Amino acid sequence: NLRVRFAPSPTGAIHIGNIRTALFNYLFSRSEGATFVLRIEDTDLERSSKEFEELIFKELEWLGIEWDEGPDKPGPYGPYRQSERLEIYHKFAQKLIEEKKAYRCYCTPEELEEDRRNAVERGDIPRYSGRCRYLTKEQEEAFIREGRKPVIRFIIPDDEVIEFEDMIKGKITIKSDTLGGDMVIVKSDGMPTYNFAVVIDDALMKITHVIRGEDHIYNTPKQILIYKALGFEIPKFAHAPLILGPDRTKLSKRHGNTYIGQYRELGYLPEAMFNFLSLLSWSPEDNVEIMSKEEIIKKFNFRRIHSANPVFDIEKLNWMNQQYIQKSSIERIVDLAIPHLKAAGYIDEIDDVMYNWLKDVIFLYKDGLQYVAQITEKAKMFFVEEVEYTDETMKILNSPNSKTVLEAVKKAIEEADEITEEYVKDLLKKLQKETNVKGKEFFMPIRVAITGEDHGPELVKIIPLLGKDKVINRLKKAIN
Ligand code: GLU
Repeated sequence: NLRVRFAPSPTGAIHIGNIRTALFNYLFSRSEGATFVLRIEDTDLERSSKEFEELIFKELEWLGIEWDEGPDKPGPYGPYRQSERLEIYHKFAQKLIEEKKAYRCYCTPEELEEDRRNAVERGDIPRYSGRCRYLTKEQEEAFIREGRKPVIRFIIPDDEVIEFEDMIKGKITIKSDTLGGDMVIVKSDGMPTYNFAVVIDDALMKITHVIRGEDHIYNTPKQILIYKALGFEIPKFAHAPLILGPDRTKLSKRHGNTYIGQYRELGYLPEAMFNFLSLLSWSPEDNVEIMSKEEIIKKFNFRRIHSANPVFDIEKLNWMNQQYIQKSSIERIVDLAIPHLKAAGYIDEIDDVMYNWLKDVIFLYKDGLQYVAQITEKAKMFFVEEVEYTDETMKILNSPNSKTVLEAVKKAIEEADEITEEYVKDLLKKLQKETNVKGKEFFMPIRVAITGEDHGPELVKIIPLLGKDKVINRLKKAIN
């Protein structure tokens, strides 16, 4: 019975790198038939919050990453929030103390700092001196009388070589001397440290495969020592390579949006995000790129995860998202576009007539959108009163036949009862004959006058949707 887990800390908006870790766990669980546990690691009381926890649920749900056990999904090994498991950690810490594998340490921050300085001066790697390892009962009592609050330290054995076979990185070997000396497992406020709580939970929750980011690789040997000390079975480990920005440094804010919610808000589709993230460090045998969630699950094979660091390529994400937008229904894109159009101040209340009009307008741009928020820029001319001309477009308006064409179009539109696509089509044909101006020379001034741009959707579609008044006003402005 295989079990994996995703164990985020609710200390901030969830980062792309964490989401990718969640995704790999999810894909592993769905392709191998493993149970997927969601555990909230909220022992950092100051930085953790319920809002961030909610956000984790929300983003995972949005992407379609479902978990089988978690804070909201009772299972046999709960609770699934670390803050609700403190007694469990204390029990195991006590056990380690009784077995002389851990001890209370009363060192003050000043003392620790002094030790650190001395080590650096000697040219040694700083690590805890072990000063409190062998305190007598009397010494301990004296410290307690002084009012010192102890931490609990786990004894890191000297000269031990810790080895494990990482499923992605291969064999990892680390000497115990490099681990910083006896490590704190319970802080003076009674909270467990990450390295301790994670072992207790992974062991008690019967996790068989720990899949997480490469940034934890040097925590793993410490955790292995705790597994051994408590006689727990050691799971398999897989450390996924960190995602890099285009300049090949660790992906960070400098590179752009790093929170998944930012992509959701811009109108990236969850299927596209899921698809894109799955291809960071993994590719199917057939190298097909556009795949549904079901196809990804079917093709996913953990052994095909490469150890090289993937680069977050926004161009590729945009391309992929565009493919998914093209495949989406127009109604879905309209619904995603509405909040953006509202935020831009372009629309307010929406009735049926408005909705249908929006549908027609957005349809003109749908296939060209890389993400839905781009609609406010692309379709701007439908919503503003007047359009602006640039030096470039002014040149087109000042071309020799421009006035003749614009006057003719204005007159015809003014006389029209109803402006349908069919009507505009016939009209433009007729006016080319009448004015004897043809092709680009005919169409460009009209386009620029009406839209302010020298490219865009077909005029026969734009003119009816823009409506008589706006078209006439803009033609007038361009003629003057
Ligand atoms: N709470 C840790 C983190 O978010 C979990 C790491 C792990 O998966 O062990 O980095």
